[in-house]
Amino acid sequence: GNESRLNAINEITNAAPFETSMTKPLKDIWACDVFGLEQMEESLSKSAFKAIKKTVQSGAVLEPAVADMVAAAMKDWAMTRGAKFFSHIFYPMTNATAEKHDGFVVTNSDGGAITEFTGSLLIKGEPDGSSFPNGSLRMTNAARGYTAWDPTSPAYMMHTANGAVLMIPSVFMSWTGEALDKKIPLLRSNSAMNAAAQKVLTLMGEEEIATLNSSCGAEQEYFLVDEKFANARPDLLLAGRTLFGASPAKGQEFDDHYFGAIPERVQVFMQDLEDKLYRLGIPAKTHHNEVAPGQFEIAPYFEAANVAADHQQMMMTLLKGTAKAHGFICLLHEKPFAGVNGSGKHVNWSVGNATQGNLLDPGCTPNENLNFLLFCGAVIRGVHKFGPLLRAVIASAANDHRLGANEAPPAILSVYLGTQLEKVFDDIRTGELHVPTTGGQMDLGLSQILKFDRDSGDRNRTSPFAFTGNRFEFRAVGSSQSVSGPLVAMNTMLADSLEWIAAKLETELQSNSDKTAAVFAVLKELMEEHSNVVFGGDGYSSEWHTKAVDERGLKNIPTTADALPAFKTPEVIELFSSTGVLSPVELASRFEVYAEQYVLSIEVEAKLVVEMATTMIYPAAINYLSSIASTGLQLEHSPADRVAKTASAMMASVEKLSAALEAEFDSEEAHMNFLASDVCGLMLEVRASADTLETLVADNLWPLPKYREMLFIK
Ligand code: ADP
Ligand code: MG
Repeated sequence: GNESRLNAINEITNAAPFETSMTKPLKDIWACDVFGLEQMEESLSKSAFKAIKKTVQSGAVLEPAVADMVAAAMKDWAMTRGAKFFSHIFYPMTNATAEKHDGFVVTNSDGGAITEFTGSLLIKGEPDGSSFPNGSLRMTNAARGYTAWDPTSPAYMMHTANGAVLMIPSVFMSWTGEALDKKIPLLRSNSAMNAAAQKVLTLMGEEEIATLNSSCGAEQEYFLVDEKFANARPDLLLAGRTLFGASPAKGQEFDDHYFGAIPERVQVFMQDLEDKLYRLGIPAKTHHNEVAPGQFEIAPYFEAANVAADHQQMMMTLLKGTAKAHGFICLLHEKPFAGVNGSGKHVNWSVGNATQGNLLDPGCTPNENLNFLLFCGAVIRGVHKFGPLLRAVIASAANDHRLGANEAPPAILSVYLGTQLEKVFDDIRTGELHVPTTGGQMDLGLSQILKFDRDSGDRNRTSPFAFTGNRFEFRAVGSSQSVSGPLVAMNTMLADSLEWIAAKLETELQSNSDKTAAVFAVLKELMEEHSNVVFGGDGYSSEWHTKAVDERGLKNIPTTADALPAFKTPEVIELFSSTGVLSPVELASRFEVYAEQYVLSIEVEAKLVVEMATTMIYPAAINYLSSIASTGLQLEHSPADRVAKTASAMMASVEKLSAALEAEFDSEEAHMNFLASDVCGLMLEVRASADTLETLVADNLWPLPKYREMLFIK
């Protein structure tokens, strides 16, 4: 019935304020639950510390004896803080985080408890985990999977109300050594990018070149809904989004929520969350209201990509857990409410090292400028060559609701450079940039040195991939997604482009002693080939949609069903195998897993639509009709007539949808295409009738919390 909805409204509006205490000063809690280099230095011998530091900073191999010492120190650190268990934490090919807890305890022959944690337990785990999707990489009879410690991401403690677990960031691989997770490709993509960048920088005459790494700063959007409402909505609980719901009379059109005062209850939640993040060394930096009512954003300061990716996963876990403790549910779904702004995760990305700094920063000297132009050119080439791959790594049933709707970046991958930089690259292409023959500095037509306004105010919000002064921002990533997929794609396409540039530059430098001229020659060729991907206009406009495809030859890839086959194209297979990031079988397994996820999530939603329409919405309509009938009023003169017709139309659509779910397919592609076209269409058909009923049936008989309630009542 409708009781749960009405009770929820009543309880929420009369709830006592959440009890809080003042938070502790930052210095008392910052990274206090992290076993980082500082803790290692305190507890290890000088030589052991030196060895582990080298491993952490440049990936050097760790001697087993040192691993034993680190394990002992880690165990002591954790146990004195109350931990009795440890866990390798890893990231399967879904967007999930997985862990398996093991006790430190073993018993001796007298039955006494002693504790044990050796280097080999630290380094290797065998969680089995045979039910994680593996895309045919493991036969069930050879389902053994291993986790292995990733020393480049620090171990930490996770507290619960009455205990603590030592968490050890790990990779996850099959018995035969294939990557079953999202961390291995990320680590490999970093080294591929580093190797290629070293070649380019060496050719550019750089003498000392430290290991390059990629950086990531991700802005996370999310919704908070009171859990009492959520509990009355099976769709929110099981699918993470509303499958039904008429638009409220007031939506986001006043923009009165965006950057507005944060509601007290949410502020308390945010501070609680941030303290938890600080304890884990996660640098939460900004938070504010987002466009939609009930929508918020949190952005940590950027970090090395591998650490940032682990921290992102932890943050999503903590967002959900902390929300629960505050009586909310946190929706990370890309589109929880139709007609209301969806949620994304902007992935800010750059590459750099300790000696040359951030290579996507134009810098203050001509030499830095040239390096910058090469790296920036490499990104342009990458997005052009591998646009469909970038679309594929952010593809999901949920993100399809955002991409291509006029609120999020379009499903066409283009690069926004800003007016100044766009002109520089255009002039390089047409040969208008003047390179003085006397050596010396290049004349960029602006000043001797490229200097950019960081143009933080006037950003192009409609571009999926935008240069923002010293980094690129991949804005089409979905809010619930792991950042690893996008980072892997970006690092790998960059590695490929830098390899291409290195080869061209080497040839050019043999015949041309002027470095600037050589760089410009290479970039001219690059831009002649790839300038079509650069676009500074309105990415939402219909002109762009036509022009991008017809004149620029770019692809518009609206759904996951259209996007995922990119993993099977020869150029993408070649990209990943030539860079050593993913072997062809590893890549193929990703296609299978992502396709399966897509099919499963749409099928779950479709079944929920059938169930909710049949067991909740139809009965509400019938109740309403019988309540009217009992008054003895004429059907023709009441809304009852429309209710009756709409309810039967809805059930007719439900029947078609149920039938569609029975269909069978002989390929994953055919199945995905059918879901994207027919099943999604039928779900919308059911919804249209249901949403009409919501506007007709008496409010006190409606079973599902309404949009206005979920979005506005806090
Ligand atoms: P916006 O104006 O896009 O909302 P924010 O300042 O909120 O910008 O967030 C930008 C994100 O980009 C932050 O996480 C920030 O730390 C990150 N960032 C800044 N510089 C870099 C960089 N060089 N590489 C990667 N990320 C960066
Ligand atoms: Mg941003």
